[in-house]
Amino acid sequence: MQENSVTRMLQLIVMILAITVRVAGQGSSPPVFVVLWFDTEDYILPQDDDAAKRLAETLTGLGVRATFKVVGEKARVLESRGRSDVIGALKRHDIGYHSNTHSQQPTIAVYLQNAGWEDGRAEFFRREAQGARDVQRIFGVTPVAYGQPGSAWAPQAYPALREMGIGMYLDEADHVGIDDQPFYYGGMLNVFKMRSNLARMELRGGASLAEGKARFTKSYEALRAKGGGTISIYYHPNEWVHTQFWDAVNFSRGANPPRDEWKVPGTRPTAETEQAFRDFEQYVRFIKALPGVRFVTATELMTIYEDRAVARSFRRDDILGLARAVQEEITFQRFDGYALSASDVFSLLTGAMAALGERHDLPGELRIMRLDGPARTYAPSVGGARSSRYPRDAFVRAVRDVAEFSRASGRMPDEVWVGSESLSPADYVATLGQALEAAMTTGKLPAEIERRAGQFTADRFVAEDAPALWGWVIFPEGFHAPRIMELARLQAWTLKPAVRQR
Ligand SMILES: [Zn+2]
Repeated sequence: MQENSVTRMLQLIVMILAITVRVAGQGSSPPVFVVLWFDTEDYILPQDDDAAKRLAETLTGLGVRATFKVVGEKARVLESRGRSDVIGALKRHDIGYHSNTHSQQPTIAVYLQNAGWEDGRAEFFRREAQGARDVQRIFGVTPVAYGQPGSAWAPQAYPALREMGIGMYLDEADHVGIDDQPFYYGGMLNVFKMRSNLARMELRGGASLAEGKARFTKSYEALRAKGGGTISIYYHPNEWVHTQFWDAVNFSRGANPPRDEWKVPGTRPTAETEQAFRDFEQYVRFIKALPGVRFVTATELMTIYEDRAVARSFRRDDILGLARAVQEEITFQRFDGYALSASDVFSLLTGAMAALGERHDLPGELRIMRLDGPARTYAPSVGGARSSRYPRDAFVRAVRDVAEFSRASGRMPDEVWVGSESLSPADYVATLGQALEAAMTTGKLPAEIERRAGQFTADRFVAEDAPALWGWVIFPEGFHAPRIMELARLQAWTLKPAVRQR
């Protein structure tokens, strides 16, 4: 071997080592996923079309994919203005949905304020499905994620969105959430109530960029110290070009002007708009260059936070552990690589007891049936005495009835009937846990099943109703919605943290 080939060989080895070290370093460095989303909603100010297009193209140029949540009316307006260039630019990113008409009265939380579960779901579907179909027709893709206009959140949206083929909830407000990170609720991945992990650079020029970088760095470093996580960043394309929101100009405090009286919002001076675009590009470049950062779309998040519990087989030991846990507290539980909601546990324990009642043995493995929570708050049955124990056969029949109801309706029952007496879902689960534990540890179900009080606590992650929760300028003055938040607490049966798989 000649001297220069030895040198070249050594150089090659050093290079390979350097690459290996870098790749290994990346593998062990905690990932920070950044979901950047744009509520694309201003169907009044035409300059918004160009702002949306320019943002989409800038990001494409930077190799970053964002999620554009498009309002149905905005999609129709783009189509009628012949803006296939805007549609084409946005389509290179993820396309989401952001309601049919956004701020036209009545807004979602207002029209659902007195609705129940099933009628509310049907009403949301009736009013909002056409916008999703229009986004689909105009953009050629099924919207992947949805988020509410303003703070017009309601739990009945979830089953209706699933019916529209939408798989993820992507927005920001305070109604429900776990520790400022992604979670499952209503049968969907949610990036919502991210608070400390919501980063947003202002678009006011001056110190905006420096402050935006500092704000992002704070969340980024805190997440890295905790082993990684997700940061949410949102904007509206119209923020680059307007002086006031299109809807605040027209629909504030419940205002309901006819279309021919809608006012066009003012526009920012060109120099300000240009500065905002420059700052934004610098902001994205800064974030992208940080070690461990990956910009992700809604679609990618659904893979990163895939719910592994759904495909998992649960065995005897799992069931025994869950049967014991629910006697103490009924809430979500974290395990290695997956999490279970209270409704997941409800379905597993019901399935286990139904099998035990039929075959006198547990099946080798059990699967979760994904269920929505109850549709109304439990009220005790009227008349008669309240038993403290139930005959075994009566209880087993009640469990079979629960299994049948759940299969037929896709949700938990509001109450469980043992003969002419009812149990709340929480008391049912605690009672069921105790009976299962007895059967699994002694080899047979006791002749009498003792009633046990259940402590359902997952609803502490749902906000209390208060006017401040509904602080959106479009709502009528003083608006709040106790019924919506009552249903939200019932749906906390479906709440659990999203576990990162990648
Ligand atoms: Zn919006």
